[in-house]
Formats: sequence, C-alpha cells, structure tokens
Amino acid sequence: MRRLVRQLFMLCSALSLLLCMAVCVLWVRSYRMSEQMNWRNAGGWRSIRSASGNMEIALLLADWSDSPHEFRGPRYERDIVNPPFNYLMTMGGNWDDVNSDWEWRGFAWHQKRNRRRDTLHAEGYVPFWSVAAAAALLPLGWTTLRLRSSVRRRRLMEPGLCPACGYDLRATPERCPECGLLTQLRPAP
Ligand SMILES: [Zn+2]
Repeated sequence: MRRLVRQLFMLCSALSLLLCMAVCVLWVRSYRMSEQMNWRNAGGWRSIRSASGNMEIALLLADWSDSPHEFRGPRYERDIVNPPFNYLMTMGGNWDDVNSDWEWRGFAWHQKRNRRRDTLHAEGYVPFWSVAAAAALLPLGWTTLRLRSSVRRRRLMEPGLCPACGYDLRATPERCPECGLLTQLRPAP
C-alpha cells in the first residue's frame, strides 16, 4: 500500500513537472504571440489563451442545445500578442444581469450572471509565473523527500549509530535508548 502511494506520488510529480515545463514554454511564447484553444457545445463556449505573460480563460455557460450548428470541437488559434482584457466591459447586457469583479495583483475574475436566462459570462486571468509555481510544488516536494531519505539512509549506515533510528550508541552499545533496538555496536572501520 505504501509502495502504491509512493508510486502514485512519483507519477503525479512527473506529470506535474511536464506540465510545469509546458507552462514555461507557453509563458515565454506569450510575449511573441497569443495562442488559444476554444470550443463550443450545447453548454455554450469556452476558451483558454496566453496573453502576454498571463493565462486567460473566458467562457459563456448557456443552454445552446437548440443550436447544434454552432458546435465546434477544440480549435487551436494564434493571434498577435494581446494582453489580458476584460471583454465583459465592452458588452451590452440585460437589466437583471448581476456583475461581479475581482482584481488583485495581476489576478482577476469578472463575471456577468443572469439567473432568469440561466447564463454566465466570465473572464479571468492569472500570471503564468503562478501557474508554473503551482505545477512545480509536487516535483519539489518529491525531490525534497528523496534527498531527505537518502541523507537519512546514509546516516544510518554510519558505524556507532543505531541502524533503525540513527541514535548515537557509543555510550550504550547493547541497546538503543531511543527506539529500544537490541544491537551490538558495529565496529568502526
Ligand atoms: Zn534506535
């Protein structure tokens, strides 16, 4: 079981590392062009794009089930460099739309919700560095644990220390006072 957890942790860390590298590539390229994926289906449309050092998502959640001619699978498009932009500001709307806007140090979320029509228009962005940092957390944790355990293994191999817990056994060679292990002090080389 612990083995399985460890392997799962390693797998997730490896995937996270790949993700982190991909994000860094997109990040660098975002200053030269804007790349986006967008798709439309019965639930409205969604898009995710790179925007000059930021990652931006925009979406409309609405019932589009009666207009299948609008549906489109994920499509990749490139454009000239485009900083993140709150396009909701330029949109008209309905009298009963409820707007909320949140912005904080380069992070933003803007939305326009209409309960009567059951629609949600939203746009938000985060700086690429924050996505890269989040994706780097798992691999960093994995590396730290690996380094710690190899340091511990090496310490346990040293003569004069308890092979189970690493406690100094020079004063009590027969029994480890820390973990109770009965042992003979291994002779120093
Ligand atoms: Zn011990």
